Amino acid sequence: MHDLTGKVALVTGAASGIGRAIAEAYARAGARVVVADIAVDRASEAAAAMGHGAVTLAMDVTDETQVDEGFARIGRELGPVDILVSNAGVQIISPLVDFPFADWKRMLAIHMDGAFLTSRAAMRQMIASGRGGSIILMGSAHSHVASKFKAPYVAAKHGLLGLARVIAKEGAKDNIRSNVICPGFVRTPLVEKQIPEQARELGISEDDVVRNVMLRDTVDGEFTTLTDIADTALFLAGFESNALTGQSLVVTHGWHIQ
Ligand code: NAD
Repeated sequence: MHDLTGKVALVTGAASGIGRAIAEAYARAGARVVVADIAVDRASEAAAAMGHGAVTLAMDVTDETQVDEGFARIGRELGPVDILVSNAGVQIISPLVDFPFADWKRMLAIHMDGAFLTSRAAMRQMIASGRGGSIILMGSAHSHVASKFKAPYVAAKHGLLGLARVIAKEGAKDNIRSNVICPGFVRTPLVEKQIPEQARELGISEDDVVRNVMLRDTVDGEFTTLTDIADTALFLAGFESNALTGQSLVVTHGWHIQ
């Protein structure tokens, strides 16, 4: 199930953090990996480090032309995409009453427009190839629970559940599966940046943010790891039946138990 030899896997936001760990796991499993990111220098460095023929793709997931042209280039050079991980994301924290509208729109563009545009492009290739494929959207514990100061993030991550369910229904006849991975807190640059920001907003120490905000509701006070999420993404990529579609897998050390 974990042999991805002969598959083309495109991972967005793969220059850093969770996306990079997933891309590395897919490359080790034999896939031709496309390291897609807006940060092209870091993406090239990541692709070179992972080897196994991984290639870099400069792509802003909010830009329809860049997404469609990027998929077309990959289709020509490597063949149609079999696995998409729509993972690119950012975090902006502010009380809702102070949230600038421009930041709200940017968050929804990256998380929602990005997931829609890349899923649409991937589905078109998966249908045309006749091979189907696996579409994995990077949700969050915040696809199921809410936290203060994260209005657009929580709204967008909840929205991804709906998108994955529609892809599951429309994609089934072409053997396209779609699922959402919902990680708890993983120590990536996205989270490291939040710790001092939350400490400021809440008027508590950074240590308290980690213990009493981020990890308070886990079963063991532990962060989720990059390996936990990469293993989940490997499992979903290799699971080739419609038995597992339209679902969300919550990987949070019990922070949210469905
Ligand atoms: P990260 O900051 O380490 O990596 C995010 C990557 O996305 C970066 O390489 C960045 O350049 C890229 N990116 C940002 N905007 C982009 C755009 N418009 N187009 C293309 N690429 C873009 O963050 P991470 O923690 O690895 O987060 C990855 C995903 O996992 C996000 O969707 C995030 O919401 C989700 N997530 C993270 C955590 C966590 O605790 N780290 C928990 C749950 C969900």
